[in-house]
Amino acid sequence: MIRKKVGIMGGTFDPIHIGHLILGEAAFEQYSLDKVLFMPAGRPPFKEGRKGMASNEQRTEMVRLAIASNPHFELCLLEMNDDGMSYTYRTLERLKEENPDTDYYFIMGADSLMYFDTWMNPQRIADAAIIVVATRNHMPQESLNEKMKQLSEKFSASIRKLETPNLDISSSQIREWISQGRGIQYYVPDPEIQYIEEQQLYREI
Ligand code: ATP
Ligand code: MG
Repeated sequence: MIRKKVGIMGGTFDPIHIGHLILGEAAFEQYSLDKVLFMPAGRPPFKEGRKGMASNEQRTEMVRLAIASNPHFELCLLEMNDDGMSYTYRTLERLKEENPDTDYYFIMGADSLMYFDTWMNPQRIADAAIIVVATRNHMPQESLNEKMKQLSEKFSASIRKLETPNLDISSSQIREWISQGRGIQYYVPDPEIQYIEEQQLYREI
């Protein structure tokens, strides 16, 4: 039986932007994935509604709108539980248990890889998924290579590179631009921009 290959693009997505979408699509192509799950992280309700931040529901809707035009992107709400934090290792183990015929490719930017050690149970994440990492913030390739090597050795992790141009964009940058009244066209898909406007998101941060 041929094993399935599924990518996971996790994030806060506050808001989701082309950086996330391009990473997902690059992983789909470069690793011949069957599909990519976009998995917004839940935030404890007491953290919601902080000035300028979008709610769980709003972040979910933005992801839904942003990925709608791509038939191999899928929304995954496993980390969107109302009772607070969810942990990546648990989500991955649960997915694997439910889909034993699937290999998971956990996609992230180089900045996230730098903090991998500090995640909850990095060993169990490394055991459950292949990690796919894209360049970010113009990190020198030697630094990225070194980190990949260090983590591979420490956790016997399978860490692979994703070839993408450096995408100079972040959710924080977009929130800042909106609060300054600057346009965000082409950085965020049009239907999502419309939603951000309707909901009056990020006007004050
Ligand atoms: P913020 O500015 O609020 O931290 P963000 O743009 O980093 O937001 P996240 O939701 O925190 O977005 O990121 C989710 C994942 O996507 C992380 O692994 C992050 O490294 C990766 N990522 C986000 N933007 C980019 C980008 N422009 N290039 C490469 N990786 C990215
Ligand atoms: Mg970030």
